[in-house]
Amino acid sequence: MNWITNIIRPRIRSLVEPKEVPDNLWKKCPSCEGMLFHRDLEKSLNVCYHCNHHLRITVKERLAIIFDEGHYETISIPNVPNDPLKFKDRKKYSDRLRENKNKTGLKDAITLAKGKIGGQKAVIAAFNFSFMGGSMGAAVGEGLVRAAEEAVKSKSAFITIPASGGARMQEGMLSLMQMPRSIIAVEMVKDAKLPYLVLLTDPTTGGVSASFAMVGDIHLAEPGSTIGFAGRRVIEETVRETLPDDFQTAEYLKEHGIVDIVVSREELAKTLGTILNLLMNKTNNNPNKDIKKKIKTSKNNGKNKPKSTNTKYKSKSNYIAKARKQVKAAQIAANKTRKKQALKPALKQVKKTAKIVKA
Ligand SMILES: [Zn+2]
Repeated sequence: MNWITNIIRPRIRSLVEPKEVPDNLWKKCPSCEGMLFHRDLEKSLNVCYHCNHHLRITVKERLAIIFDEGHYETISIPNVPNDPLKFKDRKKYSDRLRENKNKTGLKDAITLAKGKIGGQKAVIAAFNFSFMGGSMGAAVGEGLVRAAEEAVKSKSAFITIPASGGARMQEGMLSLMQMPRSIIAVEMVKDAKLPYLVLLTDPTTGGVSASFAMVGDIHLAEPGSTIGFAGRRVIEETVRETLPDDFQTAEYLKEHGIVDIVVSREELAKTLGTILNLLMNKTNNNPNKDIKKKIKTSKNNGKNKPKSTNTKYKSKSNYIAKARKQVKAAQIAANKTRKKQALKPALKQVKKTAKIVKA
C-alpha cells in the first residue's frame, strides 16, 4: 500500500487541490491605500503609481538601481564579538541576532558595496532596515570604517544610505561608541579630499541621524522619508506645541536647509552620477595643477596667491594663524555692533532726560 500513499495520493492531490495563490501579487500603498500590482510596482521601482509614495526597498534592490548597469561588488563586513554584554530582554540578544540573520540572509544591518556610478568609482554603505530596524551596533560601525578605508584606498567617493532606528540598545555603550567612530570614518574620506554623500532614506532617526548621516558634503533624500532625531510625539510632549504635519519629512528638511536635494527614485542614479562627475573630475585630476596655472597667470602675485590651498600641510600653520586673525577681527566687529545696540536704549534715555532738563 505504500506506493499508493507515497506516489498516487500526492499526484491526485496536486490535480484536485487548488493551487496556492501567492499573496504577494498585490501590495497596498501605505500612503493612499491604492492597490499595486507587483509587476507594475517593479517597473516603477517600488514607487506607488497612484500617489508617488516611495515604498521601502531592500538594499539589494537599491544597489541594483544606483550602480551603473546594476553591477557592483560586495565588501564583507569585519567580524565582531557576538553579544558582548550577554544582553537579555524578552529574548536573548544572541537569539535575536541569529533569527535576524536567518530571516534576512545578511550578516548585520549594513551592506557594503563598490562599483561605478555615472562612470565614477564609489563605495556605498547601505543600511538594511529589515535587520533589527537597521540599528547601529559594533558590526555596523566596523562596516562604516571598512567602507571608508576602501573608499580612501581605491580613491572612490563614499556614499552612505542610512535607514535606521538609531543605536542598537542591546549593545549599550558599545553601540553609542559607533557614533564618533562613524564620524572618524567620514573624516578619513574628507581628509583624502574625496566626496562624501548621504542619501537619507525612510526612516533615518536616532543615533544615526546624530552622527555620520548629517555631515555629508551633499545630503540627498528620498521623497517623503522620515528624517529626524527624536520622535514627533516625544518632541511635542517636551515643547508642548503641535508640530506641522510635514515635520521631519525630507521636503520639510529641504525647506529648512538640512537636505540639499529631494530626489525621486527614478532620477536617483542619474543625479548621483552627475554629482559625482562634478566632484570627482576635480579631485581625480591633480588638484595642484589648476592652482599652479592660476598662480602663473595671475598678475597680482602679492595678495591673491592661493597659497593655502596649494599644499595641504606645508602652509597649514600659516593658514591657521590667518584664520585665527580673521576670527578675532570678526569677534571684535561683532562686539562693537553688540555694544552699539546695547547702548542704543541708554542713549535714547539720555536724550529724553536732556530734553526734559531743557524744558
Ligand atoms: Zn499610493
